[in-house]
Amino acid sequence: MGKIGCSILSGILVPSGILLNTPNPLTCLELTSQITISGIRIEVTRKKVKYLRLVVNPAEGRVRISSPIHLKEEVIREFALSKKQWIKKQLNGYIPKNNRPAPEYVTGETHFIWGTAYKLSLGWHHAAPEVYVNHQTNTIDMRVRPGSSGEKRKNVLKEWYRAEMKDEIPRLIEKWQKKMGVKVSDWGVRQMKTRWGSCNIRAKRIWLNLELAKKEPCCLELVVVHEMTHLLERLHNRRFYAYMDRFMPEWRNHDNVLRQSSAFHAAGKC
Ligand SMILES: [Zn+2]
Repeated sequence: MGKIGCSILSGILVPSGILLNTPNPLTCLELTSQITISGIRIEVTRKKVKYLRLVVNPAEGRVRISSPIHLKEEVIREFALSKKQWIKKQLNGYIPKNNRPAPEYVTGETHFIWGTAYKLSLGWHHAAPEVYVNHQTNTIDMRVRPGSSGEKRKNVLKEWYRAEMKDEIPRLIEKWQKKMGVKVSDWGVRQMKTRWGSCNIRAKRIWLNLELAKKEPCCLELVVVHEMTHLLERLHNRRFYAYMDRFMPEWRNHDNVLRQSSAFHAAGKC
């Protein structure tokens, strides 16, 4: 099989009848191009093979597909799209979290925003740090002062995530206050090691984990609704889950999305 550390899906035989009608005039045997599926960049190499083969290297954040030379791009796209969840899982969860090298916040690294993979591009300038996210090219351009440490760069991105969360949360609270008939007096965002959110029932204050800005948007919404449900029921009992089922019948799907991308959720805390 492939390189150590890669996850490979192969053996998908290309059905006949979906090859390009006119053979590609290019005579070279390997041709590399790039496609993007839900924010995941995939290198496509066309070569003399009969099968589509998908290789994910989570350490490098690389996804590659090798394809028969004359296969239509839309077929490759469809194939990649059908494997989207698998690819994300490999990229995000293949290596146990504690074995994964800590990010260094350098060019080429993959960072997730709302469940989508972005490539970091680091530059220097003599001004306050800046983060510019391009959703077309799925890149994060970060500019910091020359000589800024990895810790500094980490904090710059962290503050960007925090601002992103602070943009989203008021809208969600507003929406769910109407649906649930409860009132949140105060809310905040902070980095938490063991839980996605918490709720101070007496103060009607909810806290949300900064890490949620890296997950699918439904994850933040789930945690907001979960914490707001605690304003109606303190415990995780039958009554609590009956409220969840009533307000957000699809909450278990969101919960699965969150669980799949997380080590600590298994602890079952909030
Ligand atoms: Zn809870």
